[in-house]
Amino acid sequence: MTGITLNIQSKHYRSDSTVIGQLSGTIAEGKITAIIGPSGCGKSTLLNMIAGLETANKGEISFSNTRSETPKIGYIFQTPRLMPWLTTKENLELIGGKGNPTIRETLASMGILDKLDDYPSQLSGGIQRRVSIARAFVYQPDLLLLDEPFTSLDAPTADQLREQLIALWQRQQSTMVFVTHDLHEALSLADEIWFLSRSPATCIHKLFVSQPPARLLAAEHRQTINELTANLLEAHPDILRGKAGQ
Ligand code: ADP
Ligand code: MG
Repeated sequence: MTGITLNIQSKHYRSDSTVIGQLSGTIAEGKITAIIGPSGCGKSTLLNMIAGLETANKGEISFSNTRSETPKIGYIFQTPRLMPWLTTKENLELIGGKGNPTIRETLASMGILDKLDDYPSQLSGGIQRRVSIARAFVYQPDLLLLDEPFTSLDAPTADQLREQLIALWQRQQSTMVFVTHDLHEALSLADEIWFLSRSPATCIHKLFVSQPPARLLAAEHRQTINELTANLLEAHPDILRGKAGQ
């Protein structure tokens, strides 16, 4: 498990426009944190910085409680990014090593063991997405980053995948940070939600969810989400447009 301390002062791609401004805080280890904010505000940039694919122009990101100097980071990108010339099994072996028993276990727990020898082109979008999630879990990361993992899926498939993700997370207890623009999804999965403003992004609100609804029964779940949504939007009607307060 790994915690993250963010102390970013600025990040820009072009010197005349800052994407991310002052953004600091701690991402708790072993918990699920959601990052939500308007399109183009720098959410993917933030995940890339946590993953070490980008660096802040000013400020830094540090990790705590890692088993080695840099934590094992899994990254589920917005598109599945499977190797098209490899079967499901081979795609997972590329990360987990040949004959790794976790491969079969993870595929079985996601209900796609029968897709072991299929190539990505033979799989539907939803199944490709499952394979990409399975691949990240086979890697057994200390920290798992997910960039809008369930967009472009139909609602029942997305719901089922969210459940499977939570089940896998409960088994591995890694730290998870996921980006979404879906308030319902954030409220149902996350222990903590960071709301970002428009660029230059800053954190305008942090919400702690004491018992994330995805871990409750279905009926309670709906009620809790509706209540959480109503309370939040009453206090912050423009929060999804990147503005806090009334
Ligand atoms: P989000 O994920 O919140 O939609 P991004 O982090 O992808 O936003 O992008 C934030 C801003 O940074 C956008 O204006 C985008 O055009 C710009 N940007 C993102 N990546 C790059 C890049 N590699 N080079 C230049 N500009 C980029
Ligand atoms: Mg993005």
